[in-house]
Amino acid sequence: MSYIQFLGAAGVVTGSKHLIITGDGTGKIGFQVLIDCGLFQGQKEWRERNWHDLPIPAREIDAVILTHAHLDHSGWIPRLIKQGYSGPIYATPPTIDLCGILLPDSGHLQEEDAAFHNRHKTSKHDPALPLYTMQEAQNCLSLFRPVNFGENKQLSSELSFRFVRAAHILGSSMVEITLNGGGAYFRLLFTGDIGRVRNSKVSPGHVLRSGPTEHERCDYLVMESTYGNREHPHNDPRPELSALIRTTLQRGGSVVVPAFAVERTQKFLFMLKDLMESDQIPRVPVHADSPMAIKAVQIFLKYDEFSEDTNTLIEKYGSPLEWPNFYFDQTQQDSKRINESAYPTIIVSSSGMATGGRVLHHLAQRLPDPRNLVLFIGFQAPGTRGFQIKNSAPEVKIFGQLVPVRAQIAALDQFSDHADTPELLDWLHTFQAKPKQTFLVHGEPAAATQLQQAMTSSLAWNVEVAAYKQKVPIT
Ligand SMILES: [Zn+2]
Repeated sequence: MSYIQFLGAAGVVTGSKHLIITGDGTGKIGFQVLIDCGLFQGQKEWRERNWHDLPIPAREIDAVILTHAHLDHSGWIPRLIKQGYSGPIYATPPTIDLCGILLPDSGHLQEEDAAFHNRHKTSKHDPALPLYTMQEAQNCLSLFRPVNFGENKQLSSELSFRFVRAAHILGSSMVEITLNGGGAYFRLLFTGDIGRVRNSKVSPGHVLRSGPTEHERCDYLVMESTYGNREHPHNDPRPELSALIRTTLQRGGSVVVPAFAVERTQKFLFMLKDLMESDQIPRVPVHADSPMAIKAVQIFLKYDEFSEDTNTLIEKYGSPLEWPNFYFDQTQQDSKRINESAYPTIIVSSSGMATGGRVLHHLAQRLPDPRNLVLFIGFQAPGTRGFQIKNSAPEVKIFGQLVPVRAQIAALDQFSDHADTPELLDWLHTFQAKPKQTFLVHGEPAAATQLQQAMTSSLAWNVEVAAYKQKVPIT
């Protein structure tokens, strides 16, 4: 008998890890595969789980298959290797390239965190240690093995898999597993994160060819539910975005946009270019101030996954790295120089929730001036500085100082890379047949439960919300 066990992203949106354990019915364990190996992020109670061991020894896992590069799906890989894993990590080529910048950066942040706790004696551990270092993250990249979309990869006599498109971020995939247990065949589909549906009108400005692969068929579906209780706004954000930028520049202010360096920043830069070329906003300097942003643009240009709109922009105006007035600031000095300029400018900088990174310097400098605009284009998790600013906090603490919030604050919710509830249901309606059972993961309890109800009533499928460490027999 074979099983699926949920070792993360059960009742929460981070820490994705799903184990497939194959067996021959005699109790002897066969091949073991981990689908995704993500970090728990957010509240402390979850982050502490990053320090727990898996219920099985890491060296007994035979393979890891990765859906996409986001750290809540990939960021625990260096830790798994520290615990003795030495097998292959299968991913699409763009996912491997993106992990090449995201994992070492994550190691760097872990080291910075540990150093902070040691300086301020704020950890119960002495000394506080990083979960893994930048070097350890760098070393694990040699275990990655590329598998192209659609290619069938046989891992053992009983298990093979194939990546199909998830359209969530560059290189993102769903994993179709075929299990052959004692003459019985089972198909398992792990969605990872699911992108916006095929109709680009509901996700304007999408830089990727949109739409997850349709007409799927499986016996067991393990599906994300991040936006299981939400609907994204469907209006085009460009008129509102142009008006916000024009008004700010007219009053002599600058625009600060906290944004994740990979994907969200690129998507926003493409939209700014489009607005400038169509004379909807003035041609002021635009700074992409993040050490990862250049590498991310280079990776984007290497792969042909762009939407038609984005391809047209690139054909007309070339690489974003060459656009006049667009600056990619690599060093700390470049970053500091932006603040010396008195002229209005647009600064796109990470981290996206203002929890750290260079955006903090820009916020500290620009928040006290009512001429400026701070614009949020991504989800702000409760407890983060971004959440406080977005929700009208009169002041926020940055680098130990209280900074008054006098700048205009605005948010646009159309930039999401996750399908919302109606889009998820649309996609599910394309399935060839009803899966035997669906398990919802990667959602807060309210979102997962609401999606479960929506799927039960509109599709009459058998849907369960996955529980942490729950073991499901595949029969
Ligand atoms: Zn993701």
